Amino acid sequence: MKTQAAVVIIGGGAVGCSALYHLTQLGLRDAVLIERDELTAGSTWHAAGNCPNFTTSWNLMKLQRYSTNLYASLAARVGYDINYHITGSLRLAHTPARVDEFRHVVSQARAQGMHFELLGPAELRAHNPFLNTDGLLAGLHDPYDGDIDPAQLTQALAKGARDGGAEIYRNTRVTAIERGAGGEWVITTDRGTIRCEKVINAAGYRGGEVAAMVGAYLPIVTLSHQYLVTEDIPELVARGAARLPLLRDPDVSYYLRQERHSLLLGPYEWQATPHWLDRIPDHFANQLFDDDLGRLETYIEAACGRVPILGSVGVKTVINGPIPYAPDGNPLMGPAPGLPGFYHCCGFTFGIVQAGGAGKSIAEWVVRGQPEWDMWPLDSRRYLEYANSKFVLAKAIETYQHEYGIGYPNEERAAGRPAKTSPAYLRLQDKGARFGARGGWERAVYFAQAGDPEQPLLSFRRPAWHAAVARECAAIAERVAVLDLPGFSKFEVTGKDAREWLDHLVAGVVPKPGRTALNYLCAPSGGIVTEMTLTNLGAERYWLISAAAGELHDEHWLQQQLPAAAREVRLENLSARYGTLIVVGPRARELLALLTPARLDNEAFPWLGVRTIDIGYTKAIAVRVNYVGELGWELHLPCEHLLSVYDLLAEAGARFGLADFGLYAMDSLRLEKCYRSWKADLTTEYTPLMASLDRFVKLDKPGGFIGQESLRREAESGPRERFVPLVVESGDADAAAVSVVYSGDTCVGLVTSGGFGYRLQQSIALAYVRSDLARPGTALTVEILGERRRAVVGAEPLYDPSNSRLRA
Ligand SMILES: Cc1cc2nc3c(=O)[nH]c(=O)nc-3n(C[C@H](O)[C@H](O)[C@H](O)COP(=O)(O)OP(=O)(O)OC[C@H]3O[C@@H](n4cnc5c(N)ncnc54)[C@H](O)[C@@H]3O)c2cc1C
Repeated sequence: MKTQAAVVIIGGGAVGCSALYHLTQLGLRDAVLIERDELTAGSTWHAAGNCPNFTTSWNLMKLQRYSTNLYASLAARVGYDINYHITGSLRLAHTPARVDEFRHVVSQARAQGMHFELLGPAELRAHNPFLNTDGLLAGLHDPYDGDIDPAQLTQALAKGARDGGAEIYRNTRVTAIERGAGGEWVITTDRGTIRCEKVINAAGYRGGEVAAMVGAYLPIVTLSHQYLVTEDIPELVARGAARLPLLRDPDVSYYLRQERHSLLLGPYEWQATPHWLDRIPDHFANQLFDDDLGRLETYIEAACGRVPILGSVGVKTVINGPIPYAPDGNPLMGPAPGLPGFYHCCGFTFGIVQAGGAGKSIAEWVVRGQPEWDMWPLDSRRYLEYANSKFVLAKAIETYQHEYGIGYPNEERAAGRPAKTSPAYLRLQDKGARFGARGGWERAVYFAQAGDPEQPLLSFRRPAWHAAVARECAAIAERVAVLDLPGFSKFEVTGKDAREWLDHLVAGVVPKPGRTALNYLCAPSGGIVTEMTLTNLGAERYWLISAAAGELHDEHWLQQQLPAAAREVRLENLSARYGTLIVVGPRARELLALLTPARLDNEAFPWLGVRTIDIGYTKAIAVRVNYVGELGWELHLPCEHLLSVYDLLAEAGARFGLADFGLYAMDSLRLEKCYRSWKADLTTEYTPLMASLDRFVKLDKPGGFIGQESLRREAESGPRERFVPLVVESGDADAAAVSVVYSGDTCVGLVTSGGFGYRLQQSIALAYVRSDLARPGTALTVEILGERRRAVVGAEPLYDPSNSRLRA
């Protein structure tokens, strides 16, 4: 065994071997994979091997499509046979809402070059003559779906990696990981020690064990997942080599596919069953759990009704194996904060179909510092400290139960909540607040009132809560309203070198004392890492404020950029110490004037100003900015004072008709102002120039900033896409994220956020479109639930272009 390598991967399942293969594809030969047993001994050997492209996430679809493309050519590429049957698949729709979901995904897939189709019952039967179409409205056909032999896939990837110069050590167990004196990783195995610069934890459901070796925690729990395989079915024998398309009946919750001349049935049953809550037995490898078919009875019955030949023979085999689940069912990938050179790539629930794309992305992360695609939905830093074992268990069970649920926009699922609450939580609950969790924090999404329509709350069309949102938007535009917004990520930067350091970090300007400025932090590629408001509190003290969900991600980025010890820059995370009340609307000044002796007029407290003001029995850091485009202030308050200040506002606000509002209203209002949302509109795949944020980029900054060179080059050639607002002639459905934009029949862009703007009474989509089509007035179409809707590029911002209301 080698004693030194550039990269060591721990775990030889489909994912670890794909990571190794892709490292060698990037030219990194000095890579080693260590596997405690045989390759595939974890979850991989017994997987059903289904390889769908279907998902409502744009980047997951790219990742899975990359895999299915790779798998189709891998055998020939590396010289290792793989049984990969590209049979296509049918997904069945029993309800109109499911049809809406399919329409959305068909459009998304076509924009990625895949010809998905919506079929009627007769066409479904033409694809599968054994299908009973009673009660079905439609079905989605994915012609590129299929099943692969997971063991052969893994071996093929391993062969490709070995041919590329990598080494694999089987029957070698990693028992400890430490940091050496030179900062390298020292990996102890039962067959010796190996030192390396970088480590990838690809240990599958044992990913948590490996993380624990470096003192880290990963939110993963093991559930059991079962499928059964029948005896041979005479009708399938009679068809010879012909194979039926894979069938999924998501409204019932099972998949059913042909396996040789039999059928393989796998339900995601309601009775999700966790295992190994204390610890994973050491000896468990290449093994299964005991069969538990009782859990599947109702699903078996339903599937037999749908495909009657299924019930004509007995069950030959049952596979009940361990499957790792993170809270949302997506894997945990990417760099581990505080552990330079250590990466996670584990916890895969669909690790066969995702292995290809995940291997590519983690290899790029390790070798190039950033993957081609924005991996936020899979980034392990999306979970903060609240995602402990209790949380992951509750959430994983819920996710498993909804594995085939409809991917509605704005679904606020209940498990694992409330985790973190603002001091005003109960007060808001009493006032009819409905909550959603963001970064673990409970935030009001809207306030229900008696007489509001109650259903549907979930829909691809405008749900019932729009009545509440319309009311809240009106209060903000006409009177004054308050939003309790706990959980903003807040970092304080101090020290005599703080300004210089910040200047190098942000693409824009560091504001003067008493001022705040929106800023973009870029990767060396120019891609947007994060968006922060940078506030200068004077006396070499700055605050950086960003999204709640980004706390760990942003802190990690800031920590990584900290200068050498000789420079005086201190960074402190204040996120949990301060809460935030947003007070907005034309009467916001009058209301606040009743509660603070501070001057709030434009001269004393201009737009983008920041002051420390007395309010209630405390001092607030008041910032004159907001995300809704009206006169208003953000009040950052010590948490222990937040409720008393909220109560004062509520009491004094009664005379102005003060209303509470929630996130859904804020989202509607920010669309009208074209304010971007991090990780919806702003990702590492877009630069600030593509995002039409040129005014926030100081290309000629003398000291330079991270990403400046790339952005300069891009400015010279001109960005290939631009961010624009679109005013859409919608019907009862607004453009959901990843709706596709067309010019004639050519796909020219992608919607990143959409919704209804109540002040303008217009349906709005924010989108990236080809640069030559970004001029205001350009006529385009947006595909919404299968229909091309007329859309016109608007001038930004759509609402109050002179910002007169903000400056009022
Ligand atoms: C019944 C069932 C059906 C499934 N069907 C599908 C499907 O149709 N499609 C799909 O995409 N997914 C499916 N899955 C999920 C899929 O099996 C997993 O997502 C996938 O196998 C995960 O691969 P992996 O490489 O991440 O992990 P694993 O295959 O578990 O590999 C991890 C490896 O790490 C090794 N390891 C752990 N600790 C150490 C250590 N300390 N030292 C050295 N090595 C170590 C383990 O021995 C193991 O080989 C199914 C799962 C089940 C249970």
